[in-house]
Amino acid sequence: MEKLVNKIQSDIEELKNRVGEKNAAKLELDKCMRIIKRLEEFSANCEECHQYVNDLESHFIKLLNQTKTEELTQQDIKLHRKITANITSHLINKHKLVTSGYYMSVYLSLGLSLGMVFGLLLFDNMPLGLPIGMGIGVAIGSGLDTDAKKKGKVL
Ligand SMILES: [Zn+2]
Repeated sequence: MEKLVNKIQSDIEELKNRVGEKNAAKLELDKCMRIIKRLEEFSANCEECHQYVNDLESHFIKLLNQTKTEELTQQDIKLHRKITANITSHLINKHKLVTSGYYMSVYLSLGLSLGMVFGLLLFDNMPLGLPIGMGIGVAIGSGLDTDAKKKGKVL
C-alpha cells in the first residue's frame, strides 16, 4: 500500500508540473495529496479506503496520459471533482474528519441566528444581538477547529 501511495503522490506532483498552476488549483491537487495520505492511514482497516486508493491510482494515470496529448477539458475537471468529493464525504462521514474551518462556519451562522433571537427577546432589538452571537460563535467555532486540528481530525 505504501508503495502505491508513493506512486500516486509522484503522479500528482508530475500532473501539477504539467497542467500549470491554474489547473492545479482547479483540480485541488494539494487537497488530493492530503486525501491520499488519509486513505493510506485508514486503508488497513477500511475496505472502501483501500478501494479509493486503487481508484485514484488509475484516475491519475488517466489524467497524466491525457495531458501528454491534449488539454484538460471542463468535463475532465468536473469528473475529477466528483471523484474527490465522493472520497471526501466518505472520510467525513465514516472517519469523522472535518474540513478546515468547518466548525467556524457552523458556529458562526448558529451564533448569528441565535444572536438575532436573543437580541429580539432580551433587548427588543434584533441587530443588537448580532455582534454578541457572532462573538460567541467565533469563540466556540475557532476553539473546536483548533481542537480538531490538534487531534489530527482536519482533512
Ligand atoms: Zn474508509
